[in-house]
Amino acid sequence: MERYAEVAVDAPIGPERTLTYAIPPTLTLTPGHVLWVPLGPRLTSGLVFDLSHHTEVSGVRPVAALLDPSPVLSAQQLALSRWLSRETRCSLYEAAALMLPMDFKRRLVATLSLSLPAQEAGPEEASSGPGRILAYLRRHGTVGQDRLLTAIGGESSLRRLVRQGLVVRQWRWQEPRAGPMYRDILRLAVPREEARDRAAAMPVQATRQRGLLEHLASLPPEEPLDAALARKEFGGGAVAGLLRKGLVELDWRQRVRDPLEGRVFAPEAPLEPTESQERAVQAIRDALDGGAGQRAFLLEGVTGSGKTEVYLQALAHCIAGGRRGIFLVPEISLTPQLTQQLASRFPGRVAVLHSGLTAGQQYDTWWRIRRGEFDVVLGSRSAVFAPQPDLGLIVLDEEHEGSYKQDDPPPRYHAREVALKRAELAEAVVVLGGATPDVVTHHRALAGAYRLLRLAGRLAPGPDGRVTTAPLAQVQVVDMREELKAGVRSIFSRALHDALVDTLERGEQAILFLNRRGTAGTVQCRECGHVLECRRCQAPLTYHGAEERLLCHRCGGHSRMPPWCPRCRSRRIRYLGLGTQRVAQEVERIFGVQTLRWDRDAAREGRAHQALMDRFVAGQAPVLVGTQMIAKGLHLPQVTLVGAILADLGLYLPDFRAGEWAFQLLCQVSGRAGRGGKPGQAIIQTYAPEHYAIRAAAAQDYDAFYAQEISYRSAHAQPPFSRLFRLLYEHTNADYAQRQATDLARGIRETLERQGLGEVDVIGPAPRFFARVRGRYRWQLTVRVPPSAAVDVPTLLASLTMPPGWRVDVDPANLL
Ligand code: ADP
Ligand code: ZN
Ligand code: ZN
Repeated sequence: MERYAEVAVDAPIGPERTLTYAIPPTLTLTPGHVLWVPLGPRLTSGLVFDLSHHTEVSGVRPVAALLDPSPVLSAQQLALSRWLSRETRCSLYEAAALMLPMDFKRRLVATLSLSLPAQEAGPEEASSGPGRILAYLRRHGTVGQDRLLTAIGGESSLRRLVRQGLVVRQWRWQEPRAGPMYRDILRLAVPREEARDRAAAMPVQATRQRGLLEHLASLPPEEPLDAALARKEFGGGAVAGLLRKGLVELDWRQRVRDPLEGRVFAPEAPLEPTESQERAVQAIRDALDGGAGQRAFLLEGVTGSGKTEVYLQALAHCIAGGRRGIFLVPEISLTPQLTQQLASRFPGRVAVLHSGLTAGQQYDTWWRIRRGEFDVVLGSRSAVFAPQPDLGLIVLDEEHEGSYKQDDPPPRYHAREVALKRAELAEAVVVLGGATPDVVTHHRALAGAYRLLRLAGRLAPGPDGRVTTAPLAQVQVVDMREELKAGVRSIFSRALHDALVDTLERGEQAILFLNRRGTAGTVQCRECGHVLECRRCQAPLTYHGAEERLLCHRCGGHSRMPPWCPRCRSRRIRYLGLGTQRVAQEVERIFGVQTLRWDRDAAREGRAHQALMDRFVAGQAPVLVGTQMIAKGLHLPQVTLVGAILADLGLYLPDFRAGEWAFQLLCQVSGRAGRGGKPGQAIIQTYAPEHYAIRAAAAQDYDAFYAQEISYRSAHAQPPFSRLFRLLYEHTNADYAQRQATDLARGIRETLERQGLGEVDVIGPAPRFFARVRGRYRWQLTVRVPPSAAVDVPTLLASLTMPPGWRVDVDPANLL
């Protein structure tokens, strides 16, 4: 029998490391067990990764207790944790924690029972603290620790008994509340008429009892009143009083803790696939059936080309074969239609994981998923770790989205890479999809790492009712410099103005898109050019007209609009740029129509956001004004015009991906127009019409964009022609932060030289784009490792010694 366990402990001990513990003879451990182990003066939780017969380590301490009798992580999950720890440079425990149920430490319950020697020994003095505990346990057998302490107290005596080995303490996880939970409801115990009469006859002082009784009598017969709500509104006394008089009664109703609660989905049949959909589905089916060849796919197709139908049919095949799926999207709240489609196609078999769930719901859902209660788990980033048994398929839609990368807290993983690794370990299939794939992903597909599947074009119902490929929106690029020359001062070019008039006359809908939020953008002095910045972050401040104040979008700080320029004292200081609110005002002023506004400020809550979309779809306003959030996958059949008010915003960010981001965004935006079979039109206003990203987006030509972008990446040895990591540091003292950064840069350059790694490039140190956030100065070093280097990134990082306070971000999703 193995005598030692290699345990990943919940402590900062660095990547890929375990500590050795002795296994007490009473325990049988296997890898994947969660336990308590001593670390310094305290106990901490840990996970068994390995077992061994001997150890070189001296002074090995024993495992303190097993946390749950069955291992919680599988061999595959342990392997995935090892990979994550190595690749993202987090500790093994941090990696594995992603795969544990949420909040698990707070959901542990301890049970107590007598050990063998204590059972055999005669009765101890029952009046002493320890004696009372032993007597209690003799009488009741195994009991919960909470129950014992409530009944007889004696915490320190209990500790002593456990230490002496007379009482055995065992831990296990709280039972998940699978399915039903109950709530109290209140209802009338007498006929309504009688209730009304009794209410009318009540003395005037009994206003609350009377109000509650009248309220209950006014409700439709089948509508229950939540008892807790009644107590809150009318007071506990009123509820108790009516109960005493026998006028109302308490009952309970089942409540399912399910985010799809209360929503009814009509079952939906699969659509007859088009030719290119059929080809794609067939290829994925073959892979699911275990056919030879590639098990990872990249499904490319413009918005509306029918990718979702391919995912759904692939999932159906996976489920028919007895396996389960995970469906990842960048953000759940932006995909209400998808949630509905999945729930209709697989009624009652879909779990939704999202940030709106309470800790309790997450915990319960985790266990239900692990028990195999769902065929499909739909979720964002972290759902890639959902404990789906028999995993057969992972779909990852809009794979280029930045939200798939986790920044803080570590592990800084990318859900796409995790999905690929997890599928490899589970021998499952992965389908990455999108209209404008990440340049790196497309490059990998061309190199054969994934099989490329392409859908023909945007779908629309044809004249005979059958689906055909519709023309893409017609995209027009307007040079705003020419507009200025022609004396146009409006935020709308002549082309956009006329198109809006036409759209409104035809009774159709338009979306105006802006890469910003707030009433207006930066505040600039017309005289000296000074731009108002946040004193703490140096980020440009944004003017919000509704509150007449300036907001910093980095730190959330705000200040008042100054009456004059802080630098030159000129009064000619005013805001530049635009916000959604200003655009909305302009539309209302010039065209005299209602608008709906959708940005992060207006739609902070998921529900408000959904309500806004419902109102727009229902045609309550002809124009929707919004930030990039409206560019995401929504199906809006009445929209025939899309205007990008200022396409240049974001084009000059200090990141080699700025062009790619602009291209992706503009493609998504243009993809909003003309989805209902009517021809669509998109107008892009810009000061840089010759920019390749804008030209390619206007032509909706991914290949043209890719050709230009990949040659640029190759020329500058940027990914995919190198691998990057960055080292991040921040401190409240500007000089100190800078010194730290300069020192580390020098140290790393010396190390590289010593190791003969001349090809590895150290860029910086430099202040980050947002150089100061929440009063802390932020610096970064970017390190570029070309494939020709004699070292890979994890190995190189393992060989570098980093002073405390530095953070590592491998394959950063941005360099800002
Ligand atoms: P994507 O996911 O690529 O943006 P969708 O799957 O949302 O595209 O498809 C766009 C529209 O075309 C949807 O309204 C969808 O119902 C419809 N559609 C997709 N495939 C078919 C098909 N085979 N037959 C009929 N309609 C289809
Ligand atoms: Zn000035
Ligand atoms: Zn700030």
